[in-house]
Amino acid sequence: MILLSPRLSLDQFVATQHRQYLMEQSSPPAEVLMNAHRFAADIWEPIINLIGMVHLNSGYRCHALNSDVKGSKNSYHMIGLAVDIMPTEMSILTAINLIINSNIPYDEIIFEYRKWLHIQGARHGYAPRRLARTTDDGIIYKELN
Ligand SMILES: [Zn+2]
Repeated sequence: MILLSPRLSLDQFVATQHRQYLMEQSSPPAEVLMNAHRFAADIWEPIINLIGMVHLNSGYRCHALNSDVKGSKNSYHMIGLAVDIMPTEMSILTAINLIINSNIPYDEIIFEYRKWLHIQGARHGYAPRRLARTTDDGIIYKELN
């Protein structure tokens, strides 16, 4: 089993229920793997330390999978820099507050459809913007902080 960090395996990060993309999902490009390792160390591990165990809905998405799930055209999921999670040890609003008030270098967190939390890391060489937003429809976004 390949680990991206102590508590995130590559298998978890590329998992999908859309079985037609399993092949493509299981061999991400080298740049994606580099991003994924950095994301796991800098964002994933500190977040698990902060909010406890989470359910990982979605990590890396190849382009075809991202289109299929109607992900954004510029989705950070496609470059290995985003996850969608649901906390299992606290409410999602408590988790959001903890993350916003932490010094974790996230680029953006989005509370999506009042169901899950999208968390993304900054692109290599870019400073994390630490944006926090909420959306109920994927069209209108409101600032959280
Ligand atoms: Zn997402």
